[in-house]
Amino acid sequence: MSYQVFARKYRPQTFDELVGQAHVTRTLKNAVEQNRLAHAYLFVGPRGIGKTSTARILAKALNCIHGPTVSPCGVCDSCKEIAGGNSLDVLEIDGASNNGVEQVRELRDNVRYAPSKGHFKIYIIDEVHMLTSAAFNALLKTLEEPPAHVKFIFATTEPQKVLPTILSRCQRFDLHRIPANLIADHLQYIARNEKVTLEPAAAHAIAKGADGGLRDAESMLDQLVAFCGERIAEEDVLSVFGFTSEQMVASFTDSILRGATAEALNLLHKEAENGKDMMKLMSDLIAYLRDLLVFKVKPDAVAEDLNPELQQALVSQAGAIETDRLLELIDQFASAEGRMKWAPNKRLHFEVAVIKAIQTLEQVTLNEVIENLSALRDGKAPQTLPGKTVMTPVSPAAARVNEPIHAPGASQKPLSKAPAARAIEKAIAHETTAAPSASTGGSDPAWPPIDAEALWQKAVDQIRARRPFIKGWIDSAKVLGQEGRSFLLGFPAEQKTAMDSIATPRNREFLESLLKEISGRDWTLKFSLKEGLKVEAPKHDEERPSDGAPAKADKKNEAAMAFKDDPLIREALEIFKGEIKP
Ligand SMILES: [Zn+2]
Repeated sequence: MSYQVFARKYRPQTFDELVGQAHVTRTLKNAVEQNRLAHAYLFVGPRGIGKTSTARILAKALNCIHGPTVSPCGVCDSCKEIAGGNSLDVLEIDGASNNGVEQVRELRDNVRYAPSKGHFKIYIIDEVHMLTSAAFNALLKTLEEPPAHVKFIFATTEPQKVLPTILSRCQRFDLHRIPANLIADHLQYIARNEKVTLEPAAAHAIAKGADGGLRDAESMLDQLVAFCGERIAEEDVLSVFGFTSEQMVASFTDSILRGATAEALNLLHKEAENGKDMMKLMSDLIAYLRDLLVFKVKPDAVAEDLNPELQQALVSQAGAIETDRLLELIDQFASAEGRMKWAPNKRLHFEVAVIKAIQTLEQVTLNEVIENLSALRDGKAPQTLPGKTVMTPVSPAAARVNEPIHAPGASQKPLSKAPAARAIEKAIAHETTAAPSASTGGSDPAWPPIDAEALWQKAVDQIRARRPFIKGWIDSAKVLGQEGRSFLLGFPAEQKTAMDSIATPRNREFLESLLKEISGRDWTLKFSLKEGLKVEAPKHDEERPSDGAPAKADKKNEAAMAFKDDPLIREALEIFKGEIKP
């Protein structure tokens, strides 16, 4: 048998062999099974994903001597003729090659004659949007009142260019670009049949390069078999088609996110020296960042396209960068791509873009400043500073392509902290060290049990007088008792804010010194959240109804004074040259 290209040899012959279009085949099979056939079908989708194949399978399903059937036999005359493209009852017209006027006219003349062998006369018109308006009009006449034995199957990559009058007479099916993992599986199937060893990474590189088109992927495999023989490695795919390894792009992104400028530039230089097209690399980088963005927002949306080996890298990178920063990064690289297009020295522009991106990542965003300030107020460590998150390195198996950079043991240092972030952290570190943290616990003969409730009640009275503005939080607390030298306070689970506010170093210090003042002993406060904890309404002398409005006004005033006296507030007022207005 003479040589056939893979795309032809492995052209699907049944609905079940179609790759990645289950949503279309299911509907078509049901239609055939239930004999609910439309007069005209329109298959829409990018090139090379199986529109014509689907059309031919449908034609066979309709015209097989056992048909209409969902599983055409493939051996009867009709099936064989359709597969071979020489059936008298199935006419294929290519709208792109000759605009079809002649053929459509002929079609119109012949359409009334009954089919010679099959059950239907079937017209398959590929790239139907390319037909001239004369051809369209000729077609429309037939479409308006088609004889019962005629079926039309149209295919197009650009449905918006098809006349609405035609669109409205068709049942439309949108075929999808095929996920990379499905294409890779299909390539492996072909490789097994052809007794060729295809590395998984190679299959994935081809699939990625084909961008959802199965036919392109098959042609690439064809070419690779001719080039490499029986064994195809990822490097072969990359060198034959000038692709960049996904692993390289992942590592490259990794180094940018970590702020490792030298490493990122090294990777870039290596690619340039290997003769890689800088424009292609840039678009790969942007595509990768886009995947990362989509992955952050909806992880399962990209799962089918991802090389399983790289998923781990993506997970850790997604955790290391905020969505708005990622958007900014994509934006920056996209405009760099625009500049590169016309620049004689593309590599220079690429380098500048990388350096700029890393600088941007190190700058603190306004959001982060606000978040960190409020964390500082609550006494918590700032959480979302750039570089706070340490990424796990790309898995060693996946990193093999770039061994020198990802040598095992080379620890990935976190991003150097931005100046503002450092300042905030320093301020917090200072406060934390001032807070006592050691707690003894257990029973201690020198620490006889006390009436914790009574002690706390006294403390609360003092708090009301001295720090009225933390009283609201104190009201949510309940004494849980004593544990050695620790004084235990519980908060209802929904009052976490109150607990966090009381647990700030300043407030803790104040409360502990207050307890010492009253009881004469050094206490360590311990806070905990308790599910379902009931806190009785606090007994407050001033809140007796008889006190009335004046007392309330007094209290407000008192609170305002205390607020002004708070050292943190005073400091803030000094820094910002501000004043407090009621
Ligand atoms: Zn048949």
